[in-house]
Amino acid sequence: MLTHSTILGYPRIGPRRELKRALEAYWDGRLSRDDFDRVGADLRADTWRRLAALRLGELPANTFSEYDHVLDTAVLLDAVPDRYRAAADPYVAMARGADGLPPLRMTKWFDTNYHYLVPEIGVDTPLRLAGDKPIREVREAQALGFDTRPVVVGPVTFLLLSEPAPGSPAGFSPLDRLDDALDAYADLLAALRAEGVEWVQLDEPALVTGEGVAEARRAYDRLGALTDRPKLLVASYYGELGDALPALAATGIEAIGLDLVRGGPVDPAALGGKTLVAGVVSGRDVWRTDLDAALHELSRYPDVVVSTSCSLLHVPYDLDAETDLDPALRERLAFADQKVAEVVALADRLARGERGVAPTARTAASDARSTLDSRAPYPERAASQAVHLGLPELPVTTIGSFPQTGELRAARAALAAGTLDVPGYERLIEAEIERVIRLQERLGIDVLVHGEPERNDMVQYFAEHLDGFATTRFGWVQSYGSRCTRPPIIHGDVRRTAPITVRWTRYAQSLTERPVKGMLTGPVTIVAWSFVRRDIPLRDVVGQVAEAVREEVRDLAVAGTSIIQVDEPALRELLPLRRERQDEYLQWAVAAYRHATSSAGDHTQIHTHLCYSNASEVVEAIDGLDADVTTIESARSGGRILGQLDGFGRGLGPGVYDIHSPRVPGAEEVGDLLDAVLKVVPAERVWVNPDCGLKTRTYPQVEAALTNLVTAARERRAD
Ligand code: GLN
Ligand code: ZN
Repeated sequence: MLTHSTILGYPRIGPRRELKRALEAYWDGRLSRDDFDRVGADLRADTWRRLAALRLGELPANTFSEYDHVLDTAVLLDAVPDRYRAAADPYVAMARGADGLPPLRMTKWFDTNYHYLVPEIGVDTPLRLAGDKPIREVREAQALGFDTRPVVVGPVTFLLLSEPAPGSPAGFSPLDRLDDALDAYADLLAALRAEGVEWVQLDEPALVTGEGVAEARRAYDRLGALTDRPKLLVASYYGELGDALPALAATGIEAIGLDLVRGGPVDPAALGGKTLVAGVVSGRDVWRTDLDAALHELSRYPDVVVSTSCSLLHVPYDLDAETDLDPALRERLAFADQKVAEVVALADRLARGERGVAPTARTAASDARSTLDSRAPYPERAASQAVHLGLPELPVTTIGSFPQTGELRAARAALAAGTLDVPGYERLIEAEIERVIRLQERLGIDVLVHGEPERNDMVQYFAEHLDGFATTRFGWVQSYGSRCTRPPIIHGDVRRTAPITVRWTRYAQSLTERPVKGMLTGPVTIVAWSFVRRDIPLRDVVGQVAEAVREEVRDLAVAGTSIIQVDEPALRELLPLRRERQDEYLQWAVAAYRHATSSAGDHTQIHTHLCYSNASEVVEAIDGLDADVTTIESARSGGRILGQLDGFGRGLGPGVYDIHSPRVPGAEEVGDLLDAVLKVVPAERVWVNPDCGLKTRTYPQVEAALTNLVTAARERRAD
């Protein structure tokens, strides 16, 4: 039997982002392969020692990655597209691109802020055991005296997350290759058995989306029936298993991992006598667990191992590093190591026969606004805005940020360190705003922005200015590869105590006759990129943030701002994994946005910006946002998005400059993209703008590209 406590996975970037630094040094050739390997080995050893010191019963292995665990799985199975095989380092080429070869596509890992590389599987893609990473990690742990349970992405999830290789026949799906994949997994299991491994964890989070149920049944019937294998734990997480639970329970596997935090309790009889690896400690937030309630839940099941709801990949390492946090808040928090301690404490109490107590009833979902806040109908608003703004046809604008110079970052650091005082910092910001305004005037942009020089990040900046948020010093979590974010923590009621952006917008407007857009982040995005409190429903948290944004919108409008952009790039990120719940989410998310923006009068033009190249899933919601102008990514998608936005009845700015690349498009190329837009959208509603903010570009690139945008727009104006 499994020892009574375990976790499904652990952070890997390093408590001080050691892996990030080593990776970037290795990629740049500043660190040798051997030295890089040593950093990885040290991090893995530290992890096992740490978990053992915390008295965790069973330690996972193969939770480390040099970039991404889905990519690791592809390499393990030899599912490497031919075009990468000749690269000096195919792994790095797939992850980051090399010699003119773009990397694999990257996308969100379920509803988290982690991103994985999408494997390409075709009819002939090899699927065979070719790598030995899990085996190497198991041996490495053994050498340190630890027996471990290797964790590998399961075959159904691996194939569901893959896309058909280019040129695959119509109707082909990677899941058609399940039997080939299973041969490889059977070999892997045999190899691990030969190492003396007792348990293997196969992760099948894709099953919580409701897909792959029949395939999971087939896969685990087959793997379960093997004789030469370790015991199998099939782990699900991020939601409930639904129909996949009876399917798995009917197979020959030994244990099932359930996310009891998000998925809720199940009937113990439904487990078919399998060991339950009970995810009662949340891996998706930073809150302490209600141990009594968890114990109560655990004691319902006859054969149970206490665990986390998912890997701890999505939480920071250790609360002890956060010495600056308010002690009252600290009391309520748990990062990865504190969560491990909770798992162990629960297993101890369970072993002593404690039963816990039923949780007190949760606060019922408050009766959130049932009516949509609305402004006058679009045609009326548009007419009053046209008079008020007097813009030319095909107005040129940008998405908000201008390049963030090293000087600005240094100034922010100096301010934080106390070596630069507030007035000194503010003078620098004002000088930067003035520079950006003059530049835009010189380039002939029609609707200006202040450039966001005062913002480190579009969410963190607002978090630092709102009540109810805390920010951390070392609370990094991996977003992808070497990239980490430090999500703010929403720990209490969110309130705005004073205007946040009005000062800078007003200053920028004072410098110019042309309209300057106010620039805010929308309520869904602020919440999606934060750790969220769990004691009230998510929609209520979003509602509170919407209220704060609404006050800011009102104050901007009162200060004379005629155009206010409220960005909502993360609208899709909170979308529930199961389709049947998506409509409800979109309804309240859209309502929150409208509430936030409807404090502006009808003559104030509301813009929104979204950045995905696949809008099909949310086109209706975009429409529901009811913004006067929507700017959206499309330069990279080759106009694909335009078809989806056909018939969109308000202002639209499909990006005509791909800011994700250092390349500067010529005026002709921009013009071609613009012509494609003009075929679908009437000229009086078309805006001319880049794909996204200009923060990551350089000034020479931006100046050249914007010059070409202005040229292309002017050539097409009907005057
Ligand atoms: N206004 C933001 C910027 O320009 C928008 C960023 C985003 O869409 N992610 O930086
Ligand atoms: Zn964007």
